[in-house]
Order: sequence, then structure tokens, then C-alpha cells
Amino acid sequence: MEQNVSFDKFNLHPKLLKALSEAGYTEPTEVQFKTIMKVAEGLDIRASAQTGTGKTAAFLLPALNQLTKPQEKHSKLPRVLILAPTRELAIQIESQVDKYAKYLPNIKKACIYGGVPYHKQLRSLSRQCDLLIATPGRLIDLLLQGKVNLSRIEMFVLDEADRMLDMGFVEPVNQIAAATPKKRQTLLFSATLEGTVTQFSNQLMRDPVDIVVHGKQAKHENIKQNLHYVDDIEHKNRLLDHLLAEDNVDNAIVFTSTKRHADKLVGELYDKGFSTAALHGDMSQRQRTRTIAQLRSGKIKVLVATDVAARGIDVQSITHVFNFDLPRNIEDYVHRIGRTGRAGAKGTALSFASNRDNVLVKKIQDFTGQKMDVVVVPGFEPSKKQRPAPSRQKPRPQFGNRKPGSGKPRSKPGSFSKPAGFGKSRGKPGGKPSGKPGGKPSARPPRKQAGQQRRRGK
Ligand code: AMP
Repeated sequence: MEQNVSFDKFNLHPKLLKALSEAGYTEPTEVQFKTIMKVAEGLDIRASAQTGTGKTAAFLLPALNQLTKPQEKHSKLPRVLILAPTRELAIQIESQVDKYAKYLPNIKKACIYGGVPYHKQLRSLSRQCDLLIATPGRLIDLLLQGKVNLSRIEMFVLDEADRMLDMGFVEPVNQIAAATPKKRQTLLFSATLEGTVTQFSNQLMRDPVDIVVHGKQAKHENIKQNLHYVDDIEHKNRLLDHLLAEDNVDNAIVFTSTKRHADKLVGELYDKGFSTAALHGDMSQRQRTRTIAQLRSGKIKVLVATDVAARGIDVQSITHVFNFDLPRNIEDYVHRIGRTGRAGAKGTALSFASNRDNVLVKKIQDFTGQKMDVVVVPGFEPSKKQRPAPSRQKPRPQFGNRKPGSGKPRSKPGSFSKPAGFGKSRGKPGGKPSGKPGGKPSARPPRKQAGQQRRRGK
């Protein structure tokens, strides 16, 4: 990176440095460079760093380093607490702990989140637990049951705080903070540091140092952003089918605005021969974990997801992100496209929009400060004339003004009625198959077939 420093400058434990070198990290990313020293000085940090910038290591490395130092008074209670808005992100953080603390077996961790039985989590809490990763809901649950004691927390990390607020976790987070010692260090990471995030963090932090990351990845310069104008759902389906079959699409995430539509689209893509699965909040944790593992292993090529469920997915092979439906919440656009172009790789984000979406397109472009390239694929030209995007500048929306997934689906969900995780059959939108020749909807695919081989295309 531009600072030209190595991790050696940070006085990290040699065993952490060894793990970093094994992971192939030669130099810190911008957010790591700006954060790690300040955390080591004991300061409260408020960082605007998006996913893909290396923000997780920016808090994990100093946190783990602190855990290599002995406590004043020995206790088996957690010393570091990391709160994440979703299970996927919590699991993702846990896997990064495993990577960085590989040679520090004495550091014990627990990861607790909802949607799974309590017993394993309770067991890990009853033993020595130095580092606790949790989602707010399950943590509050265990706090109220008296099963977790946060009185020894030295460092409190809030990851993706903007999303935490968006999901309505203000009260739980305040309750959790109140259960930790006043004399603690607090680190907050958020896509942006504006509006409600600032107000919220002011209550939790002491004279925080603000860190803004301008890195290439924060601006998503490694991600090509395309805009495809479409007439209607039929047009979207045909275009998606065509683009997914292109040679350079290794792994893709397709975002829809509702869970029902995600299931329906999975059915449609499956019928067209794609190995595909859905990822959304109606699925059990086991299904979600299995689906992400299948995506990572390459069994699934196309993941159809809603915003909340896809948060925290760190799969480096994702080459394309499709906004089949544009996100209603502008910040979600940044989180969505950040699923590709991970760790400096190149990626492509493709947004489908109709003339009615022009205001939203403009808001997104104002927010990112980047223009999407309007792309017309021969044979898929929109028949309706494009209206220019409105020129009036609207104020940037505040966090928390919309719930994720609350936008209306751009299509009627059709006759599809039963949401489920994998390979479900579709309801027919408008009663007509939308695929290319050979894409005629076939019989309902068997259940639990997340990783079917594609029957055509790549
Ligand atoms: P994050 O923004 O924390 O989700 O990290 C994005 C990706 O960057 C993850 O796959 C990390 O493993 C990777 N990463 C984090 N720090 C570095 C680094 N200094 N060098 C190379 N890759 C990194």
C-alpha cells in the first residue's frame, strides 16, 4: 500500500506476524495502517471503512495482541467483545480470528449468534473465553439469563455499526455496553460516519479518533460498475440469463429485494441450468452456512441473496454482483458491490434499472461519488426511451430510514408461495418462460439441490 510499511512496525506479537506472513499479507491496508497503532495507544477509534478494506484485521490484530499480554488479575471471563450485526459476519470474523491466532492456542474464543441451539455456545462460555464474538440478539438473550458476564471487557468492538442501527439494534447495543466496564476501549467500524452513527457512537465512546479510509477499495475503484436499462421483469430475466452465461462469470451474487423473490429467482435459474441457491433470513443457520460453503467450494455458481443475509460474505471468487433489484437503502449498494473485488481483486457490479429508477440511480451515484457506465448488450436493448436522471440534488439519506429488504419487489412474486432455501421451483411470472432457447421451465427440481451442475453454459 501507499504507506510502504510492513506489519513489523506495529509491535505485534511474533506469532501474529508469523500467521500474517503465512496468510500472504505483506503490508497493512490503509485502514490497518491508520488504526492499529492508535488502538495500541488505548484510544477509542471510530473508523469509516467499508467491507473489503481489511477492516476486520484492523481491529482483530490489536485485539489479539492485547490478549497476548497477561491480565492484571487472572479471570476466565472475556476481555474483548466484538459485536456484529449478522450471523454471517460473526462467523466471518471468527474465521479471521482462527487465521491470525493460529499460533496462539492459549487465546480462547467463543462465537455466539441466534438460529442455532444454545448448548455448544453455553459450553464455550463456561470455559475460559478471552475473545467473544456475538450478534446483539443472542448476546442480550444470554445476558438476561445470566449466562454471560461482561464485567472484564477491556475492548468493545462494534463492527458494521451502520447496519446494526439499520437493523434496530440501538437498544440492545446500549444494554450490552452498559454491562461492560465504563473504563474500556471502544472501537466502531461503519461504512460511513454520518447522521445517526455519530450520535449513537458519541454516547458509547470517549473522545474518539475518527479514521476515514480513502483506499482504492473503499472507493471500489477495483470494481467496474455497469448500469443496464431494462423495460420490465421479463427483460431483466432474459438479460440476467445471458450475462450469467458469459465466460468471465465465475461466481455471482444476484440481489433481490425480497426473500420470496430470491426463492423464485433460484427456481427460475435452476430451471435454466445454473447451479444456484438462495441465501436469506428465512433459512436456518445450518442451511446458510452450508450454502456459503458451497459457494466457496465452487459447487454453487450463482447465489441469489437478500441484503441482510449476504452481509459479511467474504468469498474471494465472486467476480460479479448483480443488482437485479436496486437496493432501496442507498448504503446497501456499497455493501452489495463490496462482495466482489475482495482483497484487491477485480470485480464487476451490474445494476438493472428502469426509467422509474432514475432518481434512485442518481442518489446511488451521488452517494458513491462514482458514475455507473450505461451498458447496452446487443439483442437486449431497452425498447423504452431513457429519460435523463433528474438534476436536482437531494440531501443524502440518513441511516436507519429504511429497513433492508423493505423495498417493493419490482415484480409480482407470482404463484410462488413457499419460501425455502434451495433449488425451489418457480412460479411463472406472467406465465411465460423467460430464458433463451432451451430455457423452458422444467419440472420442480428436487429439494435440497443447492449445488446442481449447470446443464448448459459455463
Ligand atoms: P475485510 O474488509 O476485513 O472483510 O477484509 C477483506 C479481505 O482482505 C479478507 O479476505 C482479508 O483476509 C483480506 N486482507 C485483510 N488484510 C489484508 C492485508 N493486509 N493484505 C492482504 N489481504 C488482506
